[in-house]
Amino acid sequence: MKDPGTSPELRRRLVEAVVEVVRAHADELTALDQAIGDGDHGINMKRGFEAVLAQVDTLSAAPLPDLCRTAGNTLIMKVGGASGPLYGSLLTALGKALPAEPGLVEVVRALDAGIQAVKRIGRSDVGQKTMLDVLVPVHDELVAPGPDLLGRVKRRAASAAQATVPMKATKGRASFLGERSVGHLDPGARSSSLIVAAVCETLED
Ligand code: ADP
Ligand code: MG
Repeated sequence: MKDPGTSPELRRRLVEAVVEVVRAHADELTALDQAIGDGDHGINMKRGFEAVLAQVDTLSAAPLPDLCRTAGNTLIMKVGGASGPLYGSLLTALGKALPAEPGLVEVVRALDAGIQAVKRIGRSDVGQKTMLDVLVPVHDELVAPGPDLLGRVKRRAASAAQATVPMKATKGRASFLGERSVGHLDPGARSSSLIVAAVCETLED
C-alpha cells in the first residue's frame, strides 16, 4: 500500500470499486437489514454511493484527503439512515487526518481518527454489533506485522463481519430486538467488510 494519494487513475478506480461493490450487494444489505432493522441499508448505501459516483471526475482529480472529505459530505447529505452520517463522518475524518501521499503509518492514524468519529457520532463502541466491529479489527490488522497485508486485512474484515452473527445488538435499530438480534449478520458490518475488500483488491492490482 504505497502512496494511494498519488494517481488520479487509482483514485478513480477506488471510487468506482467501492460504488460497484455497494451496488452489487445492495439487495443483500437490504435483506440483512430486513431481519434486524428497517430494511433500508442497501437502499441507503446505494443512494449515497451513487451520488459519490456522480462526482467521480471531480473526486479523482482532487488529492486523496479532499476526495475523502467531499465524498463524506455527500454521504452525510444524501443518506437519511444512521449509516449515512456514520460513513460520512468516517470519510470526512479520514480526509482531515490523511496527508496527500500517505504511507501505511498515516493510513493507520487516519483510520483511527475515522473510528473515533464514528464512535463519537454514534455514541457507540466495539462489541455492540455495528460497523465498528469490522472497522476496529481492520485497524488492528493494519498494525499487525507480517506479509500479505492487504490479503490479511481483507480476510480479517470478512471474519470480523461474521463474528457479529452471535452478538446481541446494543446500538442502532437492531438493539430494539434485544436477544432476537442474535443469530443475524449486522448489515453495517457486512457493508464495511465489502468496502474494505473492494479497497484492498483495488490496491492489490
Ligand atoms: P438505520 O439504522 O437508520 O436504518 P442503516 O440501515 O442504513 O440505518 O444502517 C444500519 C447500520 O448502521 C447497522 O447495521 C450498524 O452497523 C450501523 N449503526 C447503526 N447505529 C450505529 C451506531 N450508533 N454506531 C455505529 N454503527 C451504527
Ligand atoms: Mg436500516
